[in-house]
Amino acid sequence: MTSGSDTNGDALLRVRNLSYSYGAVEALRSVDLEVREGELVALIGSNGAGKSTCLKAIAGLLRPVRGSITLAGQEMSGRPAHRVVEAGIVLVPEGRRLFGDQTVMDNLLLGSYRRRNAPGTKDARHLAQGFLDQFPILRERQGLPAGSLSGGQQQMLAISRGLMASPRILLLDEPSLGLAPILVRQIFDMIIELRRSGLTILLVEQMARLALRVADRAYILEQGRITLQGPAAELLKHPDVARGYLGAMDSKVE
Ligand code: ATP
Repeated sequence: MTSGSDTNGDALLRVRNLSYSYGAVEALRSVDLEVREGELVALIGSNGAGKSTCLKAIAGLLRPVRGSITLAGQEMSGRPAHRVVEAGIVLVPEGRRLFGDQTVMDNLLLGSYRRRNAPGTKDARHLAQGFLDQFPILRERQGLPAGSLSGGQQQMLAISRGLMASPRILLLDEPSLGLAPILVRQIFDMIIELRRSGLTILLVEQMARLALRVADRAYILEQGRITLQGPAAELLKHPDVARGYLGAMDSKVE
């Protein structure tokens, strides 16, 4: 475990020296991080540490002041967000951001908008049916407005919509937010399953203990800087992590 930079030749996603400011607020300061193919990497930090900013910058929704973001060696920084999605970086944003008036099925189909399985094609419908088969509760409600689903079901739908874009890496921003403990467990089971299926994931989570239990590696972000990084199991035992991030909140979910 180190507090320095992680250099590895085979990273799928590599972020170097990433900085971003909202006016005078420096939200990210020279962030370096990597995610290798098939890894589940957690990004942990307190409120306002810069986690969402980091994911948004990687997804092309914010233009960094400085730094490089590469996917399989190709520079993403400076590309518009839809081109970043096309390359395979897909963000499931904090707060789900579903189209509440549109049906569950339409929300799923919209997820394929920028990828080869464009909405309306047989291919996209076939893919969407696959997700509905995995989540019977979504299948039962496929014709209902997404806004009528419970928080946990909406999160399942938001992740499934992200998967419809056939990501090479999925960025998950606080998937547990606002969910009851039993639903958090379900969402984490879904994340574990995705990891098992070989999907590469970068997970931002306020429930640090849970995130560190499921992740391969993790980074700790404090005031826009990476202060610690290493195997998740080691960070789980690190005294600074225990003191700062392992609250009682997520022990209720275990
Ligand atoms: P949270 O867990 O609360 O979502 P976070 O770690 O995701 O926190 P960010 O949302 O990335 O943190 O915010 C990082 C910093 O940037 C904070 O100081 C925040 O107040 C500031 N910030 C975020 N969004 C904006 C914005 N649109 N305008 C100005 N400042 C912002």
